[in-house]
Amino acid sequence: MTGPATRVVLATRNAHKVGELRAVLAPLLPDVEVLTVDAFEAVPEVAETEVTFAGNALLKARAVAAATGLPAVADDSGIAVDVLGGAPGIFSARWAGRHGDDAANLELLLAQIADVPADHRGGAFVCAAALALPDGTSAVRHGELRGTVATSASGAGGFGYDPCFVPAGADRTLAEHTAREKNAISHRGAAFRALAPVVVEALAGRPIQGGPGSEEV
Ligand code: IMP
Repeated sequence: MTGPATRVVLATRNAHKVGELRAVLAPLLPDVEVLTVDAFEAVPEVAETEVTFAGNALLKARAVAAATGLPAVADDSGIAVDVLGGAPGIFSARWAGRHGDDAANLELLLAQIADVPADHRGGAFVCAAALALPDGTSAVRHGELRGTVATSASGAGGFGYDPCFVPAGADRTLAEHTAREKNAISHRGAAFRALAPVVVEALAGRPIQGGPGSEEV
């Protein structure tokens, strides 16, 4: 029989993330069919009740692996602003109160640090990428993109806080990067490039526990 030898499920319904994850994973896992949870009925919504990116990524991956019987990968990500002590952090998606209201979240963050001078507007996008197998084993890898928070939003690409985030060494916001440029430097790209070899090992039937970062971090 021809066709993909193996399948993994992306544990997200965020279309932007699905696009980014497919673009990163496809070249690294050429023989792997990357499905999304939308291909399955009755995959439960998972409340992000943990207090770390890694914990929430594992929650999502484990729930989807259990519901589908397939290896599942998930990410949890956000923006961590230095002068806010790492906030919004795990609350990035609901910073202004309503989950997923990107425009309100961005506006609130800019207002909160409106008086902060350029030197102190540093922060990072951070991402934990998790793989969970139906047998209960799991692994987590991390990625980070340092940069600064601009004083106003610009650009129409990407999503979330992209219009106010200028990566270190760049002179424009992430929303002014192409999708390819963003994937090459992003926190999610880095985390999933680190996770891809673990996925390859797992799909080959080799155990994934015990390696670096194989447990909650
Ligand atoms: P999650 O879906 O629970 O991981 O929430 C991620 C939230 O963090 C998003 O809703 C965005 O607000 C923010 N975020 C994560 N990654 C990015 C990114 O690549 N660009 C802009 N915002 C991001």
